[in-house]
Amino acid sequence: MNWLDVVAEEDLADGAAALFRAAFGGEPGGVWIAPGRVNLIGEHIDYAGGPVLPFALPYATAVAVRRREDAMMRAVSTHTDNSWTGAIDEIGPGTPSGWAAYVAGVAWALQEYGIGGVDVAVHSSVPVGSGLSSSAALECSFALALSELFDLQVERKVLIEASIRAENEIAGASTGGMDQNIAMSAQAGHALLLDCLDGSTRQIPLDLGASGSRLLVIDTNAPHRLVDGQYGARRAALDTAYAALGVTTLRGLDSEQAVSGLDDDILIGRVRHVISEIRRVEQAVEILDRGAAGTELGELMTASHVSLRDDYEVSSPELDSAVDAALRAGAYGARMTGGGFGGSAIALVPSDLIQAAAAEISSSAARSGLPEPTFLSAEPAGSAHRFF
Ligand code: ADP
Ligand code: MG
Repeated sequence: MNWLDVVAEEDLADGAAALFRAAFGGEPGGVWIAPGRVNLIGEHIDYAGGPVLPFALPYATAVAVRRREDAMMRAVSTHTDNSWTGAIDEIGPGTPSGWAAYVAGVAWALQEYGIGGVDVAVHSSVPVGSGLSSSAALECSFALALSELFDLQVERKVLIEASIRAENEIAGASTGGMDQNIAMSAQAGHALLLDCLDGSTRQIPLDLGASGSRLLVIDTNAPHRLVDGQYGARRAALDTAYAALGVTTLRGLDSEQAVSGLDDDILIGRVRHVISEIRRVEQAVEILDRGAAGTELGELMTASHVSLRDDYEVSSPELDSAVDAALRAGAYGARMTGGGFGGSAIALVPSDLIQAAAAEISSSAARSGLPEPTFLSAEPAGSAHRFF
């Protein structure tokens, strides 16, 4: 079985600084680190004004950054041989294309606050393109770097907003704001209840070990493909539903009542998912507030998966295989996490069954001719910070 080791922050920072020296010469002005995440429950409802419950992973992205005297930007990453050099005032939708859009986009979005040129070197332990939010880890570590290097004196809220704009407007990925919020606001040992309707947050203690369970993160190694229009199509479907129902949010609506006002079966499924998933997040929070987890939380997770698979249609054979195998192996519950169409799943498993569950998930993938999954540990980690 394939377990992905957690990389110590020091080693992550060393990796970024070493690349910085090799690419640009001299020392970086500092190294900033931001985490990847999983979403415990509340999927595909951030952009629908729902509540979501992500927590930060102990896998993170480090950026080594130094100010320049001019208004140019250079970006390199240990993940790719493609480097980018350009002027900050050249940055716009589609320019640059590729991975550099995620960093250039942040500089673009923070331009009005008075940033200048920079060199940036990236090194990450977050699997890239696996639904564990390597993109927000990259944006948020860099946003914090710019904020401190140029002494922007802005709140994290501004950096979150800039990171979201970078991803939506420059990288062209139509995602909601969950990933950037958790990267910037995570607290170790906690999940973050983020209400995407009003932006309010509450830290929810997440000590699964206390109830004898553990969360297994499964990267199916089937890259998710969000930028290919599916995400935008789901958002568009909700807009159609809002118009048909004469509302601006599905929040607070009763599922039966809402779908009785619609006649398209696909649209009914989309709406039913959003409304039922909002309810499941509320129930999950109530369970965690009681200090419980185990069966009750597991059942909600599995119900979430079924809804995402059948009503929202964003799962994939790899995700379904992982979820089914985890349940067969005795998991309390399991679900896809993140945008779907590949990417990652999570399973809530009695602690003593972790290895057996991972083994069953792996062999099930092998039997179906699917990629070999990677397993990650899921101790809830803290937010973006300066390492040195
Ligand atoms: P996820 O956020 O789930 O990993 P996304 O598709 O949202 O998946 O973002 C992945 C993209 O982010 C990559 O294709 C790449 O463009 C960029 N990216 C993320 N991490 C890195 C990195 N360490 N180095 C270079 N590019 C990265
Ligand atoms: Mg992402």
